[in-house]
Amino acid sequence: MSDVTGTLFVVATPIGNLGDISGRTKSILGDVNAIACEDTRTSGNLLRHLGIEKPLIAYHEHNEQALAPALADRIAAGESIALICDAGTPTLSDPGFRVVRECRRRGLSVSPVPGPCAFIAALSASGLPSNAFRYVGFLPPKSAARVRFLESIREATETVILYESCHRIDKFVAEINDVLGAARVICVARELTKLHETILTGAVAEVIPKLVANSLRGEFVVLIAPVDFQL
Ligand code: SAM
Repeated sequence: MSDVTGTLFVVATPIGNLGDISGRTKSILGDVNAIACEDTRTSGNLLRHLGIEKPLIAYHEHNEQALAPALADRIAAGESIALICDAGTPTLSDPGFRVVRECRRRGLSVSPVPGPCAFIAALSASGLPSNAFRYVGFLPPKSAARVRFLESIREATETVILYESCHRIDKFVAEINDVLGAARVICVARELTKLHETILTGAVAEVIPKLVANSLRGEFVVLIAPVDFQL
């Protein structure tokens, strides 16, 4: 694409492995007027790696509501802006929805530059059904709310996908075991695309000891299979 004027580009960036950056991602980042990013230090490092120098606009969960109209004003005035997040696809458990909606409300051009996304990568390699799935992002930290959520998916007929922090991953799989039973098939995908990538698929009772024997550090995606699914 050579004409990038007056467009908000929603650009996915690597979730760990910098080799996952595409030629188109690199060229769009090099062509836009400015890059809106969550953390200017993290994105600054990525851009330095790519040899790209652009003005960075800090756009994060604390200012996205206030900043969205100003970014849309710049698009309306003919500028092109790339929206990126620290890792993966913006708007998915990351900032971005508000500026995309603001541009859509005004009839401005918004174009995706697809690439890495942790839950899609996990689903694709999990062995769990991918014909129908529900992505719910992060659950609330309180145990009672998480247990209530698990009760609500007891009879789920689609794969349910969540993000979980390394601080709670062991507790969370134990809760799955308690609420959904030891035979429920799950997948725990850790550190995808990175050196210590680990993907454990099986009945909860089989996955728990392997997970604990492995490492509970890093980044995790958890997938819960439909109620009647057997591996
Ligand atoms: N927008 C991102 C995406 O497209 O995947 C997700 C951002 S969310 C703030 C960060 C969470 O995504 C992490 O806490 C972890 O649950 C998951 N995640 C990100 N990178 C990962 C990776 N390499 N392996 C496993 N999970 C990852």
